[in-house]
Amino acid sequence: MKQAIFRAWVLLLGTVLVMLSCKKDNVSTTTSATASLPDVFKQFNTSVTISVEGNYVVLKSNGIPDHKSPYFASGNAQYEAYNGSNPNFSKNPNSIQTQNFVFKIPLNPAVASSHSSTPLGPMGISINGVPLYNQYAAGNTPLTNEINSFDQYNGHPQNSGQYHYHVEPLYITNTKGRNALIGFLLDGYPVYGPLENGSLITNAQLDIYHGHTAATADYPNGIYHYHITADAPYINGNGFYGTPGSVTQ
Ligand SMILES: [Zn+2]
Ligand SMILES: [Zn+2]
Repeated sequence: MKQAIFRAWVLLLGTVLVMLSCKKDNVSTTTSATASLPDVFKQFNTSVTISVEGNYVVLKSNGIPDHKSPYFASGNAQYEAYNGSNPNFSKNPNSIQTQNFVFKIPLNPAVASSHSSTPLGPMGISINGVPLYNQYAAGNTPLTNEINSFDQYNGHPQNSGQYHYHVEPLYITNTKGRNALIGFLLDGYPVYGPLENGSLITNAQLDIYHGHTAATADYPNGIYHYHITADAPYINGNGFYGTPGSVTQ
């Protein structure tokens, strides 16, 4: 009889020990949580699908601007004849086509030890999902001639119908303000309009990558950021400040 009671006690003790060790296992396997999307990305249009994947923010866009353009087909509701201020405007032969962009940019951008140059084609994404291009035309030639094909919002499509901005996207700065967040480059650092604390930023105030570190409305503790300026190189200078992610199209 005594032996039976002893066995029952051993069994009960064993069960409790197993339960305790299982509990411990559960705790140790639930520590890796998915990082949440920083609030700053809420400034993107809802046409851009945004998620966090590991150490990257993934932004998917069809590249269609949220404003009108003479580069839509004349039957399209977004068609608008040129009504900008450039007397030498000359429409290029391309028209805006739906794209399939996937931008992967670092969630926590960091300065790179060697600064890679920006590519021709998309080097970043603006808050309306339109890609940002650098200061060069095909063959790394200056934009001199291309500028005359920029529409009234400062964009134009290239030969596969990819609409893009090389300079200040006027629809964004007209609607959000010239100090607004414009978007992000592939290295995860933000791009702002030409105005800061009420005055226009000049190239002389920026480093060779076309940015500086200061507080912004979205990053009150300060962050490296690029500025769009009126003069070349407009958005980026001598390459990425940080390590770029990737873009597929
Ligand atoms: Zn272009
Ligand atoms: Zn600044």
